[in-house]
Amino acid sequence: MPLVSPLEFIAGEDGNVCAVKVQKMELGEPDASGRRRPIPIEGAIEEIPCDVAISAIGTNANPFAKKIGGMDLNKWGYIVADENGRTSNPRIWAGGDIVTGAATVILAMGAGKTAAASITETLTAE
Ligand SMILES: Cc1cc2nc3c(=O)[nH]c(=O)nc-3n(C[C@H](O)[C@H](O)[C@H](O)COP(=O)(O)OP(=O)(O)OC[C@H]3O[C@@H](n4cnc5c(N)ncnc54)[C@H](O)[C@@H]3O)c2cc1C
Repeated sequence: MPLVSPLEFIAGEDGNVCAVKVQKMELGEPDASGRRRPIPIEGAIEEIPCDVAISAIGTNANPFAKKIGGMDLNKWGYIVADENGRTSNPRIWAGGDIVTGAATVILAMGAGKTAAASITETLTAE
């Protein structure tokens, strides 16, 4: 459901979740960047009945990058890579969401092709 914001999980008499309370939103005026931020519609609160509620909101950097170590990460834990996918480690290239943050399939595919070309160039030179 676009333009709804979850407010609360509601428990039934048995203590299990039976509904999710949501606030309906609308797009406000564009800000300085041109982005129209969602704002709540006053009084537009709805309860959606459910048997199970799965929270699947937001994205974070996969912590594996930190665990592997040996390359620079930005303050959000994403891998820092140049336009060819080169990281600060000369043997590691990276691309896709782990570099850009949540983005699109086409950008991830493009980053993969760019990195592959850069890897080929490096290995050929060696
Ligand atoms: C709900 C949702 C809807 C989306 N809808 C769209 C859409 O409509 N159009 C669009 O263009 N994009 C969409 N995206 C974004 C798109 O899915 C991503 O931008 C894209 O998949 C990024 O590709 P990636 O290869 O960088 O990362 P991923 O596709 O996340 O691939 C990373 C892979 O690494 C694997 N992995 C993680 N940790 C390890 C580990 N330690 N060892 C080995 N493997 C590991 C994961 O299992 C995964 O297979 C959507 C994303 C989400 C979450």
